Amino acid sequence: MKLSALTTFLESLAPLSYQEDYDNSGLIVGNPDQEVNQALISLDCTEAVVDEAIATNCQVIISHHPIVFKGLKKFNGKTYVERVVEKAIRKGIAIYAIHTNLDSVMTGVNARICETLGLKNTRILAPKPNLLKKLVTFVPLSHADAVRDTLFAAGAGNIGNYSEVSFNAEGTGTFKGNEAANPYVGEVGQRHKESEIRIETIYPANLESKILMALILAHPYEEVAYDLYNLTNQHQQVGAGMVGELEMPLNEESFLFQVKDKMRTHVIRHTRLLGKPIKKVAVCGGSGGFLLKHAIAAGADIFITADYKYHEFFDAEGKIVIADIGHFESEQFTQQLLYEIIRKKFPIFAVRLTEVNTNPVKYFI
Ligand SMILES: [Zn+2]
Repeated sequence: MKLSALTTFLESLAPLSYQEDYDNSGLIVGNPDQEVNQALISLDCTEAVVDEAIATNCQVIISHHPIVFKGLKKFNGKTYVERVVEKAIRKGIAIYAIHTNLDSVMTGVNARICETLGLKNTRILAPKPNLLKKLVTFVPLSHADAVRDTLFAAGAGNIGNYSEVSFNAEGTGTFKGNEAANPYVGEVGQRHKESEIRIETIYPANLESKILMALILAHPYEEVAYDLYNLTNQHQQVGAGMVGELEMPLNEESFLFQVKDKMRTHVIRHTRLLGKPIKKVAVCGGSGGFLLKHAIAAGADIFITADYKYHEFFDAEGKIVIADIGHFESEQFTQQLLYEIIRKKFPIFAVRLTEVNTNPVKYFI
């Protein structure tokens, strides 16, 4: 299939607009029109992973971390980044990254950590604002149901556990077509009054073009009147980190033993234990220190993340236990997650998990 079929599917699950400003998710190397029949999945795209792709006939590498974050100015093979990009281009191997956009969705990196730890009642720890918009349109009574149905089918009207959410008010619309007009009702050159419904509904901004196309196709008027509003509301299903609850509270030591075992980590660096049972758990795969205040505000007993520095551990202030389980360790199940997602959607497309352990951190135990 075409590479674009794979990337379009992945972006329907984790839209690129959900990534953080510093990130570089998306197709980094490759042509969307190139044919691919096997993908290699890894957490990092290292030289060893590119070599593995060549050896196993994979035409695309799907990695969680982007190999390139900032602009590259030279390709002299001086750094591993230059060498990876150069080799991938020379060998015709595409590189696709699905990073903070996959961190931010309800079925992404953090959801997999929550599942692994057996957390229930999970939600996003820091929901993102500015991802939702509102559509207001004016529809003749006869077509209100059909337009609403079409908008909902295109992805509008979802709030939390509710779908088909809209507000509807009846009123009177007026219009006068000029000689070139071909009005659905009324006469050219005369003001027409029509009973209409004002339909208001919310939608994710990344679906805007799809929703507008659906509106215009379902609406009977030659010129469809609609207003688009930017909203500052938080999108409860999109954002950084997650928080959930253990079925049964555990004492701190027992819980840390479980984390060590389930997250397959050699060591957990943590702040002082507080002698309280662990019930609520906040998680963030990778560098999650910026979410500490959200974890405390959510009432979490422990915050499981990675990349904590010495001075940042002091910020726990006896309010929470910070547990650093290692960056690679926290995200290692993301590879399996991507594998399962792609296999489910494209059952006859070949997907491989890398056999390279890309973790640059080694432990001397
Ligand atoms: Zn990471």
